Amino acid sequence: MEALRSKFLGSLLGTAVGDALGASLEGWHMVDYNEVQALAEKRSLLIYTDDTHMAIGVAESLIENKGFNGEHMANTFIGNYDLEPYRGYGPGPPRIFRMIKGGEAWDKAAEKLYGGGSYGNGSAMRIAPIGVFYYDNPDGLREVAYESSRITHAHELGKQGAALQAYAVALATASDPFSPFKSADFLRGLGNFIQHEVYKEKLKSIERLIGEEDKARVVLELGNGIEAFNSVPTAIYCFVSHPRSFEEAVVYAISLGGDTDTIAAMTGAISGAYLGIESIPERWKEKLENRLYIEGLAERLWRIKRQG
Ligand SMILES: [Mg+2]
Repeated sequence: MEALRSKFLGSLLGTAVGDALGASLEGWHMVDYNEVQALAEKRSLLIYTDDTHMAIGVAESLIENKGFNGEHMANTFIGNYDLEPYRGYGPGPPRIFRMIKGGEAWDKAAEKLYGGGSYGNGSAMRIAPIGVFYYDNPDGLREVAYESSRITHAHELGKQGAALQAYAVALATASDPFSPFKSADFLRGLGNFIQHEVYKEKLKSIERLIGEEDKARVVLELGNGIEAFNSVPTAIYCFVSHPRSFEEAVVYAISLGGDTDTIAAMTGAISGAYLGIESIPERWKEKLENRLYIEGLAERLWRIKRQG
């Protein structure tokens, strides 16, 4: 049970640490390993962005309702955004929040954007609390991942991207970090879960790319953009190619460039769920903004899960 607690904390804190580190280097070029390390050392405080801010909202709402409540989660996002709108939100969520405040239903507003909804990675980036909370219930996880995505990202590729990221966190939570990691088994589990061809193909590419030294090749095949299908598979790759070290997985994710805060947040969520909170370097954890609050949310989520 202590191991499971460590995984809940590791996934939520892993999201925040990855996000905050990646945010300091967000840009559209690749950086090297030492650059990432040096930058992390220079910061006195690791400040997170919308990825973590929304994951906090997901956790708060799951805790409050002891499970998923779409309208409540949407209103939690809105309340949090109104308090801290400076977290680097994209243009979509604030428009949706205004629509919902204006009376639109929580599960209808997002469909009105971008002709059928967004397939950005915004619902996958915040999914860690759902991944750990439903880690032993794949059907429930899929449904809640889709429904929570509908609040802001209604496109099928956005919803499935969120579900894939949630299930990667779930599988990592369910896996014993003291046994040898088998990437083929992990990827097969994800492949059996996800339904969309785009994601099935990307999972095959991940398997082929393991061990690839050319980062440009990885980015070319998996992507490093803001679309869910160009970032969720990339985060999964960063984890499966560095399963034994949170630090290596997250630094590698950032070194790929592109949407670094979100790809590092998602990588950190999976790696933290697998290896537990102890795997996150202390020098990063101690600098993380609102660390105790985020840990407290993970702790409460775990307690609710334990009570059943
Ligand atoms: Mg962000």
